[in-house]
Amino acid sequence: MLRRLIDSALFHGSRWVAPRVSPRLARLAPGRRWVSICFDDFPRSAARLGAEVVEAQGARATYYVAMGLIGGEDSFTRDDLLRLSARGHEVGCHSYSHLDLLTARTRTIETDLALNAAAWASLAPGKPLRHFAYPYGRLRPSQKARLGQRFLSMRSIFPGLHRDRVDLNLLHGNKLYSEGGHVDRALRLIDQLAGGGGWLILFTHDVSDHPTRFGVTPRDLERVLRASASAGAETEVPRMRDVPVTFRATSRPASAPAPRPAGPAASAGASAPPPRRRVSAAGAG
Ligand SMILES: [Zn+2]
Repeated sequence: MLRRLIDSALFHGSRWVAPRVSPRLARLAPGRRWVSICFDDFPRSAARLGAEVVEAQGARATYYVAMGLIGGEDSFTRDDLLRLSARGHEVGCHSYSHLDLLTARTRTIETDLALNAAAWASLAPGKPLRHFAYPYGRLRPSQKARLGQRFLSMRSIFPGLHRDRVDLNLLHGNKLYSEGGHVDRALRLIDQLAGGGGWLILFTHDVSDHPTRFGVTPRDLERVLRASASAGAETEVPRMRDVPVTFRATSRPASAPAPRPAGPAASAGASAPPPRRRVSAAGAG
């Protein structure tokens, strides 16, 4: 009981502190709209039925993989990973063992991430895992800066719609679960996107007519993709070099105004070619 209370206090404390430390700020291209679909962990149904639904709408998703889960009863297989990558989906990192970063030691985290990178590299050499989703959505705020040196982006499960500026070390993630009204909330956020632009990141797990409470039905997934297209949102995986980011920011606090672009080194997308339709990716963790 006491242990659970301490854990809850730790989690809520880190959730309050995390957005306030070590931000890596970037400014979104004005007027552009992005919707990213993310599958975390991920069950086999996400790799197969989920990918079919996404691709049928001309979109691509991000699959956050924990290579230690491979081959489980309901998990993805090596062939699933290779197929997803070949078809243009982004494969991101979700640690090797689905590690709880809130309680793990730094050395354990480093070892685990190295293990995941090596396992993926043995399968897809030359295609590093560039994006990360915090397993369970849990982290120690002090880890943001360290992980930010390793990944182009890190996604949380803290809800919100990105407008104007984003913290690449702690991207918002919104549940796309068929239970609990999350799909309707996602559709409302897409409406808001249509009005003012921005970047909405949605995450889910299994895809089935009878999903778990952490998953989505094919019909709901399709509704969200269609609504995104109607809102003029780009729905492929985010490519940081040419997608939402127009410049990289400094370590200013999240409440401070973002700096102006300062030249090529600071620009991640100012000179990038116009993007195609994209739905990007980012984890319940
Ligand atoms: Zn997860």
